[in-house]
Amino acid sequence: MQLAASMSRIGTETAFEVLVRAKALESQGRSIIHLEIGEPDFPTPRHILDAAKSALDDGWTHYGPTQGQPDLREAIAETVSRSRGIQVDGSRVAVVPGGKPIIFFPLIALLEAGDEVIYPNPSFPIYESMINFTGAKPVPIPLVEERGFSFDLDLFRSRLTDRTKLVILNSPANPTGGVIPAHDIRALAELLAPRDVMVLSDEIYSSMSYDRQVVSIASMPGMLEKTIILDGFSKTYAMTGWRIGYGVMPPWLVEAVNRLMVNSNSCTASFTQRAALAALTGPQEPSRQMLAEFRRRRDAFVGALNTLPSFACRLPEGAFYAFPNITGTGLKSKVLADALLDRAGVAALSGTAFGAFGEGYLRFSYANSLENLLEAVERIRQCLNNGNLSKL
Ligand code: PLP
Repeated sequence: MQLAASMSRIGTETAFEVLVRAKALESQGRSIIHLEIGEPDFPTPRHILDAAKSALDDGWTHYGPTQGQPDLREAIAETVSRSRGIQVDGSRVAVVPGGKPIIFFPLIALLEAGDEVIYPNPSFPIYESMINFTGAKPVPIPLVEERGFSFDLDLFRSRLTDRTKLVILNSPANPTGGVIPAHDIRALAELLAPRDVMVLSDEIYSSMSYDRQVVSIASMPGMLEKTIILDGFSKTYAMTGWRIGYGVMPPWLVEAVNRLMVNSNSCTASFTQRAALAALTGPQEPSRQMLAEFRRRRDAFVGALNTLPSFACRLPEGAFYAFPNITGTGLKSKVLADALLDRAGVAALSGTAFGAFGEGYLRFSYANSLENLLEAVERIRQCLNNGNLSKL
């Protein structure tokens, strides 16, 4: 028996594989500092846990509407309208099990062979995986370190064709921590508004920008009807394991996502939706505190990384990732990432786990204690000093 040919085109997310290798080393007694996985190391805030427990006691244990509970959809619409400066209601919201399904479902609904998709590279590996899965043509655009990991707009313009059906943006970005500046968003919108294209704007880190205001392309003239906003609860409320997220999109696409949802999940878990409602309507202080702590760690960790002779790390403007340039080591990214895990017990990801243009970089998640982050840098320093890495 053979798998369908389309399965040979679907990719994976290396972070989970590195986590397995790191855990295997730990089970042999090795000390490992985990900087590979992209999830907040904070607990889900107490009032959200309480809301979920009450919801279970109150019988939110049955099927619900495929599109999501109406009051949650309205709360999401209100939050998104306020934070993005747009006007949407709950009819444009699809509640799904995590942010990822807002990549999976819309790409399946929109793309087929012959279509072209412009997307950043390096970027979240699921974009490329799903573009390939649908049979569409991936058109990666390298991110430019000197532009804060935004696009070269001339290059972007040159890659637009009559076949471009979808453009994927991600700001603040995984893996670079870059935030696309407002003037770039405006320039991209001016290019895209007159065209027959859709934009998937992955805004899962929208609440995690340290200095710059995050601008959604959906707020630009003519773009609301062309934009799918992806957001959710995983990062902002430390709810990665709850599996709940949402998309905001034009009604005709909500309808398609609903059909894919009813064929796959029926609905998102009912009690987690009650918890998500509590997350949006309850105190936001825990999220603010988490962001303040990430900022403290970012400043210290990036400062420490830049004391390593062959590392050069820009200050990331958002999310919780540092993406140092390691070309000074003379090593390939994957070789260095493997060596750091095996020899120094520091689990990080090769930039190439996020696409070919990630060569020359490593990704560290600083969702770990300040103490561990600084210890990781010292371990890397020792490894670079006496690891005979040049022979690798
Ligand atoms: N988009 C980006 C850029 C991410 O980094 C992630 C998670 O790492 C997701 C989407 C998916 O989020 P979720 O865990 O809610 O599915």
